Amino acid sequence: MASRTERRDAPMFDPDYYGLTDEQAALCTAARELGEDRFAARAEEWDRDAIFPMANYKDLHESGLLAVCVPKGHGGHGADLKTYSLMAAEIGRYCGSTALTFNMHVSSCLWTGALADDLQMTREQRGEHNRRRAIHYARIVEKGAIYAQPFSEGGAAAAGFRPFGTLADRVEDGWVINGKKIFASLAGSADYYGVLCTEKKENLSRRDTMYFAVPADAEGVSVVGDWDPLGMRGTVSRNLLFENVFVPDDAALMPKGIYFKAATRWPHMFTTLTPSYMGIAQAAYDFTVRYLRGEVPGMPPVKRRMYPTKQHAVAEMLIALEQAKALWFQMLGEARANPSKASVLRAYCTQYTVMETANDLCQKAIRTCGGQSMLKSLPLERLYRDSRCGSLMLPWTAELCIDKLGREALYERGEDDE
Ligand SMILES: Cc1cc2nc3c(=O)[nH]c(=O)nc-3n(C[C@H](O)[C@H](O)[C@H](O)COP(=O)(O)OP(=O)(O)OC[C@H]3O[C@@H](n4cnc5c(N)ncnc54)[C@H](O)[C@@H]3O)c2cc1C
Repeated sequence: MASRTERRDAPMFDPDYYGLTDEQAALCTAARELGEDRFAARAEEWDRDAIFPMANYKDLHESGLLAVCVPKGHGGHGADLKTYSLMAAEIGRYCGSTALTFNMHVSSCLWTGALADDLQMTREQRGEHNRRRAIHYARIVEKGAIYAQPFSEGGAAAAGFRPFGTLADRVEDGWVINGKKIFASLAGSADYYGVLCTEKKENLSRRDTMYFAVPADAEGVSVVGDWDPLGMRGTVSRNLLFENVFVPDDAALMPKGIYFKAATRWPHMFTTLTPSYMGIAQAAYDFTVRYLRGEVPGMPPVKRRMYPTKQHAVAEMLIALEQAKALWFQMLGEARANPSKASVLRAYCTQYTVMETANDLCQKAIRTCGGQSMLKSLPLERLYRDSRCGSLMLPWTAELCIDKLGREALYERGEDDE
């Protein structure tokens, strides 16, 4: 009989028990196998040297997973948010930086694909959108193009409170973009930057948000600043400068006004950052069980499972993991256009729970397994550092989720205390 260490990892969400479709199960299996067989062994190098996991992206392209959210009619798998999230969590178990950057890439397909299909557009807008997104999808399917998602600017825009300060100025046949993005994962490695910016007018408005695919080698684009962070080091989230960058009309990934509609009518779009951290939470638990059973490869087969304190800690970790997974799975099933207020509040609760639980489980895993478990030769200390980043991701940081939950639970739209 195969020993525990020789066995393949079990799915995070057993298709039979969670009622996954055959397609969902197949995509999750493909992602898990890539993660287990290839990404896990490479993760230490990306993390140590803070370099982008390009070899993993080659594998994602060759396996067809790079196009997971490209609609079927355009040569992809046509995955919706739930399907993408389930498969991406499997990647997050083995390499957080790959899963997190994969989110940035996939958003460019999910937002323009399944999500945009749910939003109202005029006939003209729909026709233009279909024609333009076909250009974008062909690059991914045929050439393995990688997209980044530079959104953050260091002000209130990424939190959704102000228009983006990166501006797009209308010129003949296109737009000229000027501005700065911070924390742009995949900086220097992506082929296109999916830039969120505001149409330049006298009064800037979030309604005029534009979303462009800017080629990384366009004149006026530069990557600046260094990158030596605590965690998610392989994301290489350096800063981007856009100085008089011209893009043609066809660079628009969404018609004018549609990104704003998406952000307000399809709020679950901001939960796409959670799969990486759901995967990390699972990995921290799996590591702890293996470690206490004396089954971590490369470690002496010393068992520590017989101590009641260890057993209690694992029990508490499993309870927290199952709670987070159950809530997350429920939330994914609710993602749709125009969700109810209760569903949106549940999405905030889920975002908070996944991000905080991932870090709680990593902390507990280190305390329970002990000193040797946090050596850099083992993945747990990387999981611990990577997990800390989840709560910081705008627009739904852990703090902002708490803010929104408290306020929106107590006030209906338009209510105040005057
Ligand atoms: C590993 C990693 C990868 C990332 N990749 C990307 C990426 O690819 N693309 C991208 O666009 N961004 C990315 N980000 C950036 C991320 O989404 C945030 O924008 C960034 O962490 C914000 O940092 P800051 O110090 O500017 O936060 P601040 O804006 O200074 O906010 C600090 C905290 O204050 C709170 N806060 C912020 N605004 C408000 C407000 N108006 N009211 C109340 N509270 C508020 C929030 O809780 C926030 O966490 C990445 C971040 C990390 C850590």
